[in-house]
Amino acid sequence: MASGIVNIRRDVDDKFYRYRMPLLTTKIEGKGNGIKTVIPNMADVARALSRPPAYPTKFFGCELGAQTSFDEKNERYIVNGAHDANRLRELLDGFIDKFVLCKSCKNPETELIILKQGRSEDIIRDCKACGERTGVDMRHKLTTFILKNPPVKVKKGKKKTGTGDAAAGVGGGGDSPDAEASPAENGEESDDELTKKIKAEAKDLNNETTLAKEDWSADTSPEAVKQRIKALEGGMSGVSLGGDDEGSDDDANSPYGQLGKWVEENRDSHEGDTKTFLVAVYKKAEDLGIEKKHKSVLVLAQALFTDDVLNEIPKYGPLFAKTVSSEKHQKALLGGVERLVGLSHPDLLPAVPKILMALYQLDLLEEEVVTQWGTHVSKKYTDKETSKKVRKASEPFLKWLEEADDDSDDDEE
Ligand SMILES: [Zn+2]
Repeated sequence: MASGIVNIRRDVDDKFYRYRMPLLTTKIEGKGNGIKTVIPNMADVARALSRPPAYPTKFFGCELGAQTSFDEKNERYIVNGAHDANRLRELLDGFIDKFVLCKSCKNPETELIILKQGRSEDIIRDCKACGERTGVDMRHKLTTFILKNPPVKVKKGKKKTGTGDAAAGVGGGGDSPDAEASPAENGEESDDELTKKIKAEAKDLNNETTLAKEDWSADTSPEAVKQRIKALEGGMSGVSLGGDDEGSDDDANSPYGQLGKWVEENRDSHEGDTKTFLVAVYKKAEDLGIEKKHKSVLVLAQALFTDDVLNEIPKYGPLFAKTVSSEKHQKALLGGVERLVGLSHPDLLPAVPKILMALYQLDLLEEEVVTQWGTHVSKKYTDKETSKKVRKASEPFLKWLEEADDDSDDDEE
């Protein structure tokens, strides 16, 4: 299927370009007046673009003056009429340019947010790579659809279980009758609202609800693995590794890049024998001469942790116990967490207190280091906004630390 994967920016002729998507495919169904073009892999394409599949589908409709329909549950995305795959691919390029790529740096890692000012609403591309926020052309018809069906947090896991579970995608209206968008989800929120929400969600997590659900287990489909590799590579070059003392190690051929790749490639094939695997990882780092470096901790965190991080921390803990030594190493570990929840799996944000707790309980983090980290926004591992979000999310844990500290003071008196 290698030929079925293309660069998100098709104008970039670089086989090492890290942002890839499945090549859009089409299937003509029906005939006569009822002829229609089904896009069987629209959900996958949209996932690679981090957009609800309804958006590009509707975009095609706008551009072609055609009716569209989508059945999110069965992942059926349809444009009425017979349309050539190449034509739709060209249109998709247009969608990507207008609604995905950062206008400033052309990076596709952006999030659509809706900014309300008085009565007017703007749709903004919030770039994870350079931090710029650039507006989309509000004259485009699709903007009306987006405002009516604001982006909701994309759920992890490919297939959802249960009933009535809205697919990753738009909130409501459109052609899918049941789902309803929560106003809290639509775009811009003040810091206070964000904090409130994170706290509420964190409280929820204490009841082991969300995380206990099946679809949080590590998704090992090739697609998910690819996604993680992308996140890893993206994380490693999109943001500086903090190149303070060890020169430029950002590229995939550096020892760090090699370690990360190796771990990614072997992580899911070790058949339950975690200990042997961890020893092999350490050995690999040794061979590369970087087993003592703090950056290796960052790379390992990025390569090992997935959205199942809460189960993975105890599993991989011994490796981190062996590699995390100084404060600098702890900060690198926190940097890895920051990228995991900030860039790769934003829906893990509410789990940050639990993640920190798990690391703390394994003695991988010291109170002073976490507190210092949690109270100082830094651009070292992510962009500033992400860094801020992650720290806000960590507040319940920091508070717990503080209170636990007070308690022990009382005991001593
Ligand atoms: Zn940008």
